[in-house]
Amino acid sequence: MKTTVIGAGVIGLCCAYELAELGHDVTVIDAGAVGAEASAGNAGWITPFLSTPRAAPGAVGDAIRSFTSTEGPARMQPHAELGFATWIASFLRASTKRRNAHGTAALQGLAAEAHAHFAALTDRGVVFEEYTEGLGVVCKKDENLDHYEDLVAKMRSLGYDGGVTVYRGSEVAGFDEAISRDVAGVVHLESERHVRPESLTQGLAKAIESNGGTVIEHDAVRVISPQGRGTWFVATESGREFTSSNVVVAAAYATRKLLKPLSITVPLEAAKGTSMTALGEGVAPSHPLKLYENMVACSPFGRAVRLSGTFDIGVRDHKLNRKRLDMVVRQGLGFLESWRPTDVEVEWVGHRPTTVDDLPVIGPVPGRDGLYVATGHGTLGVTLGPVTGALAAAEIARGDRTELLDPFRITRF
Ligand SMILES: Cc1cc2nc3c(=O)[nH]c(=O)nc-3n(C[C@H](O)[C@H](O)[C@H](O)COP(=O)(O)OP(=O)(O)OC[C@H]3O[C@@H](n4cnc5c(N)ncnc54)[C@H](O)[C@@H]3O)c2cc1C
Repeated sequence: MKTTVIGAGVIGLCCAYELAELGHDVTVIDAGAVGAEASAGNAGWITPFLSTPRAAPGAVGDAIRSFTSTEGPARMQPHAELGFATWIASFLRASTKRRNAHGTAALQGLAAEAHAHFAALTDRGVVFEEYTEGLGVVCKKDENLDHYEDLVAKMRSLGYDGGVTVYRGSEVAGFDEAISRDVAGVVHLESERHVRPESLTQGLAKAIESNGGTVIEHDAVRVISPQGRGTWFVATESGREFTSSNVVVAAAYATRKLLKPLSITVPLEAAKGTSMTALGEGVAPSHPLKLYENMVACSPFGRAVRLSGTFDIGVRDHKLNRKRLDMVVRQGLGFLESWRPTDVEVEWVGHRPTTVDDLPVIGPVPGRDGLYVATGHGTLGVTLGPVTGALAAAEIARGDRTELLDPFRITRF
């Protein structure tokens, strides 16, 4: 059976890989290079523990404080398509205690499968860089460390069963001597993992081609339309045309524009992030670190270290914002005792596909046989990529429905 997948980010590639494994003849089409958008310069964490929606009680207040501060990790840029007031109202509605509890349980259900699906990729020969040192959450303030300890108890009650150790004060250097001596402590989430995300997307693209699939780069899809019962037509900017029984739309925030002519609404927006990856001098961290107070992520990849951050909603441009990146680097280095960058490998921007309730959209479009959407993974696309691909492919190829995907259906909007 022929399937066209639109978007060669981690989500589209995972869907395409799993469909090819189930015998589909897949063609993946991307407007740019494989994995070059959000799926490239991110932190690469596979983190079931952090799989919770941003839409949470108190999040709106935090966001407003952050949006109005020049040094805040988050910003919002109003524009006509975003529908600023509607977005805020929908986010508010999704941030109640009840909706947040529902979203957290839903994400935890999916994320509980994350590590197993990464292992399944490796077992089947997909090659990528993976690291197994866990993830450290570093807090400068005691009250934030206490808050994290409470969070561990809450996540345990939701089924999180990874090992956790807390290091306080002088114990921190014994955990990772790269961390600044002035922090209050670290919560070590021992079973979390991280990958070099660029290696994951490259590994998936190679595996798709080895399975007989095709990956087309630098040719944006212009139109998706039904062509008779059970057949879809896809045309690209360069004039290529495809017909297939299934189309999977995994084009991140551009999904909204691609589906609009079919009268399908997906409230998706870009949340721009940025990162710097560098070799350096001094003691480099041996664990990936969430630098809590500034919401900066620090990821070691072999000899290189990546500092990433910012969550700028509605900012869709691809320009490197020097001030924002410098802020991320400066704030990140404030948590490190001696490591300083000397040779910058890459400076990057990318856009997290984010929905109003900060939950992904995964599933068939009702009344549109063969059309499937997989996007909106926000801050969790790496973590949830392989599990999304496996469940979506099973649903498309074999009609296997799992209740794990029920909270993520497009019908909720
Ligand atoms: C700074 C930062 C740090 C992050 N850290 C983590 C982390 O540690 N762990 C984690 O789990 N997640 C993390 N994320 C989130 C993660 O990167 C994203 O959720 C994930 O990459 C989204 O994957 P995607 O495939 O949906 O989107 P993308 O990677 O953006 O892929 C979508 C693709 O669709 C293509 N496309 C768009 N329009 C068209 C069109 N018309 N035709 C054809 N192709 C089109 C684009 O070119 C793009 O390649 C982070 C994100 C950022 C920005």
